[in-house]
Amino acid sequence: MSVIQDNLETVKANIDAACARSGRDGSEVTLIAVSKTKPVEMLREAYDLGCRDFGENKVQELVQKYDALPKDIRWHMIGHLQRNKVKYIVDKVYMIHSVDSLRLAEEISKEACKKNVTVSVLVEVNVAGEESKFGTTVQEAASLAEDISKLPNIVVKGLMTIAPYVENSEENRLYFARLKQIYVDIIHKNIDNICMEGLSMGMTGDYEVAVEEGATYIRVGTGIFGERQYTAV
Ligand SMILES: *Cc1c(COP(=O)(O)O)cnc(C)c1O
Repeated sequence: MSVIQDNLETVKANIDAACARSGRDGSEVTLIAVSKTKPVEMLREAYDLGCRDFGENKVQELVQKYDALPKDIRWHMIGHLQRNKVKYIVDKVYMIHSVDSLRLAEEISKEACKKNVTVSVLVEVNVAGEESKFGTTVQEAASLAEDISKLPNIVVKGLMTIAPYVENSEENRLYFARLKQIYVDIIHKNIDNICMEGLSMGMTGDYEVAVEEGATYIRVGTGIFGERQYTAV
């Protein structure tokens, strides 16, 4: 068995176990294989093993891999997105997880209109309030979602967070629970054109806790493809 196959089976078994512990159905959770920095051959291998959801955090890399790989892949843009690069991906991504300002949403809406597509987005929330992280605040998340919902050709599908880097994943449980609470609060507001169905939280170090707290998308990179090497150029 290859390393990727072995890793995928482990991650899927862990997701199923976390679902069982929390009374959830495994079909509620989509595993996104975070393939940033990894070569196309590795993505191809994961694809051949059944992966159809891939996560990238850089526009140029996403576009290159999009061109090189089968068209039934769902590409998730999970990294900080600059407004001037939106035009390159609006018609290629399945979902943008990292929308944290109205200005960015307006740009996505504008480019989506030009290309006659509708883009699904998640509002990124900096739940832990870390200074180094992007994301709107807990206080502003609902109103940002509501403002975005009024724009054409963009649909708010849920929320995303990147939890702090911790040794013990239990420390992130409260942040995941908090995001879930904001999510439920927004559902109760019954806002037109918001279709809350996605809660993107949990990475290699903490996805089991995230699943227990209600994640519908987990973003796992290292746990599938191994450590990333960032080579200086
Ligand atoms: C890189 C990245 C991940 C995956 O991180 P791992 O710890 O390797 O699983 C998940 N989410 C985002 C936003 C990332 O940038």
